[in-house]
Amino acid sequence: MDSKPQVNTDPRRSIPSVHRLADQVCSHESGISPWAATEGARRVVERARSGLSENVAAEECLAESPEEWVERAVAEARNLSRPRPQRVVNATGVVLHTNLGRARMAKGAAAAAAEAAADYSDLELDLDSGERGDRLQGVGERLSLLSGSPAAFVCNNCAAAVLLALNTLASGREVIVSRGELVEIGGSFRVPEIMRRAGVRLVEVGSTNRTHPGDYEEAIGPETALLLKVHRSNFEVRGFVAEVDLGSLVEIGARHGVPVMEDLGSASLVDLAPHGFPEESYAPARLALGPDLICFSGDKLMGGPQAGLVLGRPEVVQAMRSNPLARALRADKMTLAALDWTLCALLEGRGTEALPLLRQLLAAPESIEVRARALCGKLAAGLPAQAASLEVQKERVPVGGGSLPGFELESWAVVIRAECGPQVLAARLRAAPVPVLARVREGAVWIDLRTVEPEETSIVYAALSRAFH
Ligand SMILES: *Cc1c(COP(=O)(O)O)cnc(C)c1O
Repeated sequence: MDSKPQVNTDPRRSIPSVHRLADQVCSHESGISPWAATEGARRVVERARSGLSENVAAEECLAESPEEWVERAVAEARNLSRPRPQRVVNATGVVLHTNLGRARMAKGAAAAAAEAAADYSDLELDLDSGERGDRLQGVGERLSLLSGSPAAFVCNNCAAAVLLALNTLASGREVIVSRGELVEIGGSFRVPEIMRRAGVRLVEVGSTNRTHPGDYEEAIGPETALLLKVHRSNFEVRGFVAEVDLGSLVEIGARHGVPVMEDLGSASLVDLAPHGFPEESYAPARLALGPDLICFSGDKLMGGPQAGLVLGRPEVVQAMRSNPLARALRADKMTLAALDWTLCALLEGRGTEALPLLRQLLAAPESIEVRARALCGKLAAGLPAQAASLEVQKERVPVGGGSLPGFELESWAVVIRAECGPQVLAARLRAAPVPVLARVREGAVWIDLRTVEPEETSIVYAALSRAFH
């Protein structure tokens, strides 16, 4: 061991002080506020120090020049300053992209939410009498008009609606579910766990692939409080399969005096079956089969804000409202305002034009192809010729968001094979001022125009130009 003091060669000495680095960040870039400059500088310094203390090679930990220290801290500070969540362009073609915020909401609905937030409103006031009002009366009436349901309730999201319904209808008692429907929706929403948290006892019947009416009948006993059907939102079972349809379950429930609930997950108040979508996605048709309660998300196939829409018998809905948990799970005023706007658009018959979600779901492949060809032509003229090859291709995309398993839409994409490779190109697109999210497949980047609104094409074009220059 060398015993001479090595003060002069200690690599830590070349790490700048947080204070000085933060000052340099501020003078380098006037838009960055001091908190972000300080925290950015602190993180850069801390990372270098901890790298050295863990014996990572000095070249890897240290910047090569004073300018590089500042660049690192500026990048960190910029990252800290940007809004989160930040706006991105969804060029994946997947309309309900969970990682990208699921459904897009209409600008009008968003404006209604913003107004409810920024101004006072009659949220819980009856303007005629001046007395206390009901925050759910407006959306409740509109939901009833649209669905034919005698009563409605709105939770914060569908998971909350399921939790509240189970706790209200079956606390301390048994709920019967088919083994083929004990699903995990994602984000750790698992039916058996939700049941435990709701304080109900799960009784599984049937097998993974086959459940028969007799399985429910045999399991029903004095402790049975509810028969629950859960939509298999994100997977299919094929082959030797059998399930009990909702109508039959309602009939079994009626015979034994046990209520029936369906967690549809996603459903629409516009009948999408004429457009080729599965029939079970039309909420009023499910309700007409006679369950006591159905619940589904306000965004997935509805096109409104994320919410848990509950439709069903008045006594059941009233019991849910009176549950002390309802206060913790109900929708807030911004959600209600956005939902109200959405329901009005549907009542006026404007859903398929006014709601971007329905527009995107129902967009004709031909119109998407036209837009893909236009973007491709513009790129061919504007990008350096040797940097990439471009073509327009048909593809099939899932709807996403755990909504319609096995169901795909025909769509069109600009397929870009870049010299830099697809991962590098995709990363550059994510680093654009408005990040563009595209799919990487078959060694290429696919820009699917189904989820890119016409006014967003210029953003995609700008991100691609930037990526190649
Ligand atoms: C999506 C889904 C949920 C959860 O809906 P959120 O609005 O995300 O809470 C619950 N059940 C089913 C069957 C679903 O598909």
